[in-house]
Amino acid sequence: MENKGNSVVEVKGIKIGKGQPLVFLAGPCTIESKEQANRIHDQLLPLGVQFFRGGAFKPRTSPYSFQGLGYEGLKILKELKLPTISEITAIEQIPAFLESVDIIQVGARNMTNYELLKALGKIDKPVLLKRGFSSTIEEWLCAAEYILLGGNKNVILCERGIRTFDDKARFTLDFAAITYVKRMSNLPLIVDPSHAAGKAFLVKDLALAAVAAGADGLLIEVNDQPQFSVSDPEQAITPNELKEIIEKANKIKEVINK
Ligand code: PEP
Ligand code: MN
Repeated sequence: MENKGNSVVEVKGIKIGKGQPLVFLAGPCTIESKEQANRIHDQLLPLGVQFFRGGAFKPRTSPYSFQGLGYEGLKILKELKLPTISEITAIEQIPAFLESVDIIQVGARNMTNYELLKALGKIDKPVLLKRGFSSTIEEWLCAAEYILLGGNKNVILCERGIRTFDDKARFTLDFAAITYVKRMSNLPLIVDPSHAAGKAFLVKDLALAAVAAGADGLLIEVNDQPQFSVSDPEQAITPNELKEIIEKANKIKEVINK
């Protein structure tokens, strides 16, 4: 069944995956304004972050929550210095994503949107595929196959926590999945400790443990003013906290490489 994707995905000269340095993708949950995106972006620039993240199309649990700036948000991302990653929610958005962002994210809620996955298989822009929070590893790897089968070999997997009976963390970060997928698949694997944690104070330890378990990089929500943010304010860490994670994660990576 297996269609091999690239073990190393290269985006604007940055290599992600096997044998490469860790990559850090960081930024706010949602692009809320040009001022907010620029302000956070400029604080991330000196930290060694490779990609700026920020949602423009937000699949919110409640239809009454802010749904994102949409195409306006993509325009804001396009003007930033750092390469970017943002979440796609529908096939008709593909042309705008192709010209605005560097990595297209498929969120947990769209992991089984097979028509979207097939359409993303026909382009060659890298796709970061999050694991659905109720999906098995097998279902997740099959979802990746939908993209690979279409010819797009630039697929990056992302573990972001699954739903279990416990509710102290927002989701349960599946560490066995990190090791399993690194062993059974050649695809690059990023871990998102922010959505798994749901609480800022849990993010650092989950992030560092994910690197020890074999993650090729981390996708982390960062906001210097989470108190004014309309989405996921409880799990955002500060740029300073991210700085500490980056320093320690790189040291852990060095140790496990030996
Ligand atoms: C996100 O990264 O902003 C997001 C919505 O994540 P997930 O799809 O993992 O819930
Ligand atoms: Mn979020």
